[in-house]
Amino acid sequence: MSKSEIIPIISNAIDSNCYLILDEITAIIDTGAGMSDWLIKKINEIVNLDQVSLIINTHGHADHCGGNSFFKNAKVFAHVLDADEMAEGWLYGTSGLRGSAEPLKVNVSRKLTEGDSIELGSMALKVLHTPGHTPGSMCLLEEERGILFSGDTLFSGGGFGRVDLGGNAGEMLRSLKRLTELDFTLLLPGHGGVAQNGRNHAALAYRYAREFLI
Ligand SMILES: [Zn+2]
Repeated sequence: MSKSEIIPIISNAIDSNCYLILDEITAIIDTGAGMSDWLIKKINEIVNLDQVSLIINTHGHADHCGGNSFFKNAKVFAHVLDADEMAEGWLYGTSGLRGSAEPLKVNVSRKLTEGDSIELGSMALKVLHTPGHTPGSMCLLEEERGILFSGDTLFSGGGFGRVDLGGNAGEMLRSLKRLTELDFTLLLPGHGGVAQNGRNHAALAYRYAREFLI
């Protein structure tokens, strides 16, 4: 039995969803845009922000990594192919989302690649490189319980992320196809609600993507 706990924080408007993981390490997957007091307050009701020692950004868009700076003691993990864009702070044209012309520089301390394992204590997350939304977009798979953190690659109800902010339609199609073949049940996406029977949502998204992306 896994002793870790996953607490979804479902956002709206500009922020991404955030997923707190309480294990030997306290981690958070994505941090929102960093503009909404309610989101940070909500996280702070669950854990002291300084207790979070690891941020995993599913990709380098401002609505997913803009809140990183609230977590002073956290290292940042992201995919190697988004790390340069994050370091420069332009975030595939999304840095302006926050209403500032300044770049939002995010330093990545560990650059992840396909197949990497992130050990959190009793839980481990496997990195699946799923480009299409951005070059370095990734999903994180918890294999023991069949949980997929899908970032902006796959949403509930057959949605998928846009491909015009650093993305690529062909890659998105291939990534969605890959998710249809993956063994998982609980879908925890970057926006919108969570879903059971995640593979059905992946199959629907792949069908829609084949209609609309090509
Ligand atoms: Zn995004």
